[in-house]
Amino acid sequence: MARNVPPESQLPRSTHRYPSMLKMNAAQDSGEPLLELRGASKSYGDTVALAPVDLEVRVGETLALIGESGSGKSTLIRLFNRLVEPTSGDVMLGGRPSSSLDAVELRRHIGYVQQDGGLLPHWTVRRNVELVPELLGWDLARRHERSRELLDIVGLEASTYASRYPLELSGGQRQRVAFARALAGDPDLVLLDEPFGALDAITRADLHDQFMALKQRFGKTTILVTHDLAEAFKLADRIGVLKSGRLLQIGTRTELAEQPSDPYVERLLTHISPQRPC
Ligand code: ADP
Ligand code: MG
Repeated sequence: MARNVPPESQLPRSTHRYPSMLKMNAAQDSGEPLLELRGASKSYGDTVALAPVDLEVRVGETLALIGESGSGKSTLIRLFNRLVEPTSGDVMLGGRPSSSLDAVELRRHIGYVQQDGGLLPHWTVRRNVELVPELLGWDLARRHERSRELLDIVGLEASTYASRYPLELSGGQRQRVAFARALAGDPDLVLLDEPFGALDAITRADLHDQFMALKQRFGKTTILVTHDLAEAFKLADRIGVLKSGRLLQIGTRTELAEQPSDPYVERLLTHISPQRPC
């Protein structure tokens, strides 16, 4: 396991307190949601990528978003790091409208794994992982220690992998690096856009285990986009189902299974038994 783990990350979630752009501690104390969409929508000309959505996510929660290709999943999560600006409604982060936060600064406090991993191909693994710490102005020694630690956590020995380039890695290894990069700046929020999408079943299962271990250890508020319901059931506390730009339902595994609010949700659930281990 990791060496030199920063003391704060060993603390239980309820006492994990540090200065945070999203005012996480305040949100946790008051029971207010960390993230909120209030009637937030996005259109591109006549295309409604996302119909108005109301949604709340609490500190430490893992929310999965599931839906077919083109259903608005990426649009929804990108509202939170301001890669997408809403056409209508409000996006609230730590109780403040996202529009009041500096977008560039905000992105330094949000870990993001985009759909293709998004590693910079001409940068080494180490430099990719250290991207946000570098932007945050950490000195070299601290950055190197952090990248070593994170690579270790995701199962890549720094002495072997840190100096490699993304093209010298397998797809699974690239995804691990993308995870390490997303966590490197100790973000307030982690947005994962189909991070396991293109992987073989064994690598996927391995990364699922790693995801759960990270969840236990760091308790980061996370939104995970997937098109795999079994994956959503396995990894998330709640699941939101999107179809054609509409958020049809959001709830726990049991709520979706027992009270599907829409025939589409019901049909989706017939493809998997919620009792079945996945
Ligand atoms: P998903 O991630 O679920 O596959 P997206 O959120 O990427 O879906 O897209 C939802 C819809 O919005 C799709 O119809 C897509 O073509 C459209 N869309 C997304 N981004 C843009 C854009 N930049 N310009 C025009 N249409 C877009
Ligand atoms: Mg997408």
